[in-house]
Parts: sequence; structure tokens; C-alpha cells
Amino acid sequence: MTTASELEKHLRDTPDLYVLKSNESGKSNVWKHFSLIFEKRSAAATNDDSKYFCVCVSCKRVYAYKAADGSSFGTKNLIDHIIHIKHTIVYR
Ligand SMILES: [Zn+2]
Repeated sequence: MTTASELEKHLRDTPDLYVLKSNESGKSNVWKHFSLIFEKRSAAATNDDSKYFCVCVSCKRVYAYKAADGSSFGTKNLIDHIIHIKHTIVYR
């Protein structure tokens, strides 16, 4: 399984391979600060690991938000990120 730091690098190096979408079903306000990461379907995309990750819209830091079995980690680490980094979010 891809790690968050690997995916973060992939996003930086090959952003064209990914689509970022807002989590419209997310109940927490923290989802205004993170986008879900989806792999574009291509010959190179052999797995769908990226559906378990989200990325901070401000600094592009990648976090896992789901375990491999699909259970949610919750949003605590996402909220911690916002607080720790002191993002002043401008989300449109
Ligand atoms: Zn951030």
C-alpha cells in the first residue's frame, strides 16, 4: 500500500495523474481544508490506494483518512494539522 509520504511525492511530481475532489459527504468542517485524492485511470494506475488519502489544500500535505479495510481514521489528525500549521484557510 502506498504511504502518505509516497503519495505526497507523486502528487508533486506527477500531479496530472490525480484528480482532487472535495469530500462532499464529509460532515466535519475540516473537509473544507482537505481534498480527496483520486487516481486518474490510466495504464500506469494499477491500484486504487489513493482513495484512502486526502491532501491539505493549503500546503499539499497528504494524510491517510481511511484504513485499508475502508474504516475511517476520523478527522482528528486532519484537525491537528490545521491547528499545528496554523493555516489561515481561504477556501472558495
Ligand atoms: Zn496544510
